[in-house]
Amino acid sequence: MEGYYPPLVPSHLWMLKDKIRENKKRIGKMDTPFLLRNIVHCKTCLVELKPKDTSPSGYKGRYLNYSCSICKGRIDAYELHEDVIYNLKENLSPLLIKAESLTQKRLKKYRNSLRIEQEEIRQKQERNLYNERQFPNLIQRCGSKYYSTRKKRLKKSLLKSILL
Ligand SMILES: [Zn+2]
Repeated sequence: MEGYYPPLVPSHLWMLKDKIRENKKRIGKMDTPFLLRNIVHCKTCLVELKPKDTSPSGYKGRYLNYSCSICKGRIDAYELHEDVIYNLKENLSPLLIKAESLTQKRLKKYRNSLRIEQEEIRQKQERNLYNERQFPNLIQRCGSKYYSTRKKRLKKSLLKSILL
C-alpha cells in the first residue's frame, strides 16, 4: 500500500522508553535510583512491584529491590535495570539503523520526484518564453492577464519545489 509504512520499532519498547521519561518528568530530577518505579509488574500476581531499599542503616542505596506485595518475590534493582537497558539497546539500535536508512531512501525518492517536477516546470517556462517572443500578438489576444497569472503560478511552484 502506498503511503503506509509499518512502525519500525515495536510499540512496547517505545512505551517503556516513554514511561521512563514520564517518570523522570513527574519525579523531577531523577534522584530516585528506581528507574522502573510504576513500570514493572510481578509476572505471577500481575501487581506492580514496589521499590524497596533494604540496605542496613548507614548504607543507603546499597541493596535496592523491587518486590511483590503478594508473593513477596523480589528482584535486585541494579540487575533488573542492567537487563532492561541492555535489552533496550540490543533491540533499538538495529531498528534505529534500519529506520535511518529507510528514511534516507524515502527522501532520495522524494528528491528525485521533485527534480522531475522542477524540470517540467522549467520546460513550461521555456515554452512560455518562446511563445512570448514568437507570438506576442497571440498572447495579447488570449488575454495577457490570464497569461501573466499562469507565469506567476509556474514561478511560484518552481520556487516551492526548490525550497523543499
Ligand atoms: Zn507476586
